[in-house]
Amino acid sequence: MNNIARFRTFVQALTRLVERHGADEAEMLSQGETLLRGIVTQDDWLPDAFAVPSSDSYRQYLLYCDPLERFSVVSFVWQPGQRTPVHDHTVWGLVGVMRGEELCEEYSTALKPTGRHLVKPGQVDRVSPRIGDIHVVSNATQDRTAVSIHVYGANIGAVRRHTFDPATGASKEFVSGYTNATIPNLWDRSRELSR
Ligand code: FE
Repeated sequence: MNNIARFRTFVQALTRLVERHGADEAEMLSQGETLLRGIVTQDDWLPDAFAVPSSDSYRQYLLYCDPLERFSVVSFVWQPGQRTPVHDHTVWGLVGVMRGEELCEEYSTALKPTGRHLVKPGQVDRVSPRIGDIHVVSNATQDRTAVSIHVYGANIGAVRRHTFDPATGASKEFVSGYTNATIPNLWDRSRELSR
């Protein structure tokens, strides 16, 4: 079932949250986490096209971007064995796992490993320059595609950020962009209205 109304409600709640607490990162992370947990534990709304993996690399599909670019929502899709480089975000972010299992490995600003943990369906991880912004995310399973829903405090695909080589300390600027050129249509209410 493609219950897109659930995602629309989520986007509306995030919009209200950013209107009210957009300047307060701790509040955005805390209330945003509650909202995100609500949507990753109800796996009936993500259109299939935004959960398609690729053998080339993990995929990042933009699902929604706030018109004023105060936040964006992205689905990440990983096949077994796929992982991000060591990277930062430069803005706050929330990672909620919906399918499969992911491994998050954190690094200090000096690029020393500081921790690693599994994120299971329904769980949410946080990042930001204030609380720890550098990590690697990977599919933690050998046999299942993983799907996570991420919320960031900017149009994340257009943010200049960095990848790092912990062995040498070298950093490289990158702008991630998105896999998709079209986004889900949240606004056709005809099916709901005809019930
Ligand atoms: Fe990340």
